[in-house]
Amino acid sequence: AQKRTPLIAGNWKMNLNHQEAVVLVQKLAWVLQDKKHDFDKAEVTVVPPFTDLRSVQTIVDGDRMKIRYGAQDVSVHDAGAYTGEISASMLAKLGCSYVVVGHSERREYHGEDDALVATKALKTLQAGMTPIVCVGEGLEVRKAGAHVTHCTEQVEGSLAGLSPDQVASSVIAYEPVWAIGTGEVATPEDAQEVCLALREQVAKTWSSQAAERVRILYGGSVKAASAPAIMAQPDVDGALVGGASLQADEFAAICRFY
Ligand code: PEP
Repeated sequence: AQKRTPLIAGNWKMNLNHQEAVVLVQKLAWVLQDKKHDFDKAEVTVVPPFTDLRSVQTIVDGDRMKIRYGAQDVSVHDAGAYTGEISASMLAKLGCSYVVVGHSERREYHGEDDALVATKALKTLQAGMTPIVCVGEGLEVRKAGAHVTHCTEQVEGSLAGLSPDQVASSVIAYEPVWAIGTGEVATPEDAQEVCLALREQVAKTWSSQAAERVRILYGGSVKAASAPAIMAQPDVDGALVGGASLQADEFAAICRFY
C-alpha cells in the first residue's frame, strides 16, 4: 500500500442535514488539525448527501485542511428532462473530488447493474472527478466460496469500457455486503485475499501499470479498532467507512492510521 496514497472515505449515507454537516466537518477538521494529520500521507474525503455538499464546500474551502468531499451517486445523463437526477458536471462544479458509484445499497434497492455502474464511473471521470466503484459479495456467495470470482466479475463489468489510464485513476472499494452496517468486519486476511484478486484482475484485463496505480479500499463495519490491521495489508489502500464516519473522533482515528 506504500506505493499508492491511501484514501479514507466517509460515506454518510442518508444522514445529517446541512447544518449538522457543517458541525461534523468543522469538528473533523479540528480533530485532524489537532492531531497534525498529514494529508499527503493519507487522503481524507467525506461523502455527504447531495443536499449537504454546498455546506461542506464552504467549510472545506475556507479551511487550511485538505479534506476533500464527494457524492454518493451520479446520473448517467449529462443534462435534460431527468427529474430528480444530479449530473456529473453539477458535482464537479461544486468542487467534488469523488463520486461513489455502485454502492451495494444502490445495487440492491435501485436495481443498479454493472453496466449502469460502468457508465456512471465513465461520466464521473469525464467530468474530472474520481469514481469510487463498489463491489462485494453477499453472504450466500461467501458461504459458497465464490466470493473472489463474484468480485472479479463485478470489477470487470463495473469498469467495462474504461481505458487503462482511467482505471488507474479510479478507486475500487471491496465491500462485502454481509459486513456493511452489520458490525461484522472482514478479517484482514479476507480483505487482502479479495483486494489482491481485484488487482490481479485489473492487471489481466487492463494493464499491470493500471493495477499498480489503482487504489483498492476495504469497506464494511470499519472502526478505529479494526482499521489498522486491515489497512496494513499490502493490497488494501484505505477504507470506505459508513457508520463510523458520522463520529468525528472515530473517523479521525481511522484516518490517523497512516
Ligand atoms: C458503507 O456503506 O460503505 C459502509 C462501509 O458502511 P459501514 O461502515 O457502516 O459498514
